[in-house]
Amino acid sequence: MALPVLYIVIPCYNEEAVLPLTSGLFLKKLTSLIAAGRVAGSSRVLFVNDGSKDGTWPIIQKLSGEDVHFEGISLSRNRGHQNALLAGLMTAKALADVTISIDCDGQDDIDAMDAMLAEYEAGCDVVYGVRSARTTDTFFKRSTARGFYKFMRALGVEMVYDHADYRLISRRALEGLAQFKEVNLFLRGMVPLVGYRSSSIYYERHERVAGESHYPLKKMVSFAFDGVTSLSVRPIRLITWLGFLISLISLVAIIVVIVQYFLGMTTTGWSSTLVAIFFMGGVQLLSLGVIGEYIGKIYSETKARPRFIISEKTFDETAAAPDSAATPGKDSPNAP
Ligand code: UDP
Ligand code: MG
Repeated sequence: MALPVLYIVIPCYNEEAVLPLTSGLFLKKLTSLIAAGRVAGSSRVLFVNDGSKDGTWPIIQKLSGEDVHFEGISLSRNRGHQNALLAGLMTAKALADVTISIDCDGQDDIDAMDAMLAEYEAGCDVVYGVRSARTTDTFFKRSTARGFYKFMRALGVEMVYDHADYRLISRRALEGLAQFKEVNLFLRGMVPLVGYRSSSIYYERHERVAGESHYPLKKMVSFAFDGVTSLSVRPIRLITWLGFLISLISLVAIIVVIVQYFLGMTTTGWSSTLVAIFFMGGVQLLSLGVIGEYIGKIYSETKARPRFIISEKTFDETAAAPDSAATPGKDSPNAP
């Protein structure tokens, strides 16, 4: 059997401080895998420049000029980590047998790739990288992240605990993922929905080698919120139940009011009326907000805007086509 072509897909946004430090590590890993005869010589490191405003893209271009194993694509503007990652994966889908996605900041242990490939060789289509310890995260980030995974699970979203976006995906699993047309991307919730055999490998997460996280608390919260509303309709159902519960309480209250009327105690109750009004007002606004969140999602899904636009590539796909078509051509004898 021919060796699989591996593409390491790396989204980068304003990482000029990081790339010169980590790119060498990725290259070393890839060339050692090639030398060990585990992946094909045409395997590549594919950087995705997510509309960086600093020198990230020139660095990627320079790297690709220096070593054939480096390739890059550039998005027309900043679209966020998830979209950038999807752009890379969808580009790699046409060129690779298997992909591994990883952040460019050196936080994820590059050496875990060997174990991932071993799982792939054993027949897995998806291998999740799971953090065995979160010692480098602050207590706050650690506990909020843990709480988030628990919350997502409670809402019925199938998600791998403590897994970020460091994962191996085979070509056929990527083809499955390509059929998910949603615009609101939350890849770590979507990949389990693709199915196929999967497994997890464990690694320790390090400190960022340089630069700063692009996910401050505010962004983390909105990412979590998007995750919930993109993958679960349970909050809406909870609102329905809340409605039932409040209707029931109201029924009891109505009976109390009627009884009081007949007992001639109708002038009291100013405070209870106000409490009920405030409470109902709050519940209704909250419920409207949650439902509005879903309507917002429907709005962006129906517009079906492109999830990413690739503006530049360091490689010429028309030149690469005859080469990459050569292999699939063998199993399509009808090709002219
Ligand atoms: N990233 C991106 N687009 C963005 C923000 C981040 O492509 O709009 C990339 C970033 O360059 C990095 C990865 O996504 O490779 C994860 O970002 P970061 O390390 O800032 O997040 P954290 O690890 O702190 O959650
Ligand atoms: Mg990071």
